[in-house]
Amino acid sequence: MTDCLFCKIAAGEIPAHVVKREGRLLAFRDINPQAPTHVLVIPTQHVSSLNDAADARLLGELLVFARTLAHEQGLAERGYRVVLNTNADGGQTVFHLHLHLLGGRRMTWPPG
Ligand code: AMP
Ligand code: ZN
Repeated sequence: MTDCLFCKIAAGEIPAHVVKREGRLLAFRDINPQAPTHVLVIPTQHVSSLNDAADARLLGELLVFARTLAHEQGLAERGYRVVLNTNADGGQTVFHLHLHLLGGRRMTWPPG
């Protein structure tokens, strides 16, 4: 997708603070962090949303990647939150599939 912000980040056309790149996944810091650690995990290939994700293996890889990152970022023991916003009611603003990995503070429930 030529006009997708996260595709451009994956291609290195827009700068981002990359935390980890492995296989077909990329993690980078959210530009507007909502917690001391706020990392986005994306597939480097374009997928618009969870509704459009046909590759179950890729979805599994995203979760495992987030879990590994949580360990590497020192979040695993205290805990963290993984969020996947989908479409308007879910609060999705960038239409390239991404997980939010949030940690470093106590989360509240229910989410806003
Ligand atoms: P969502 O609202 O779930 O679609 O999440 C999109 C996220 O992308 C938001 O948390 C934004 O702060 C983040 N974001 C938008 N532009 C950038 C960017 N250029 N680099 C890093 N994160 C971004
Ligand atoms: Zn994209």
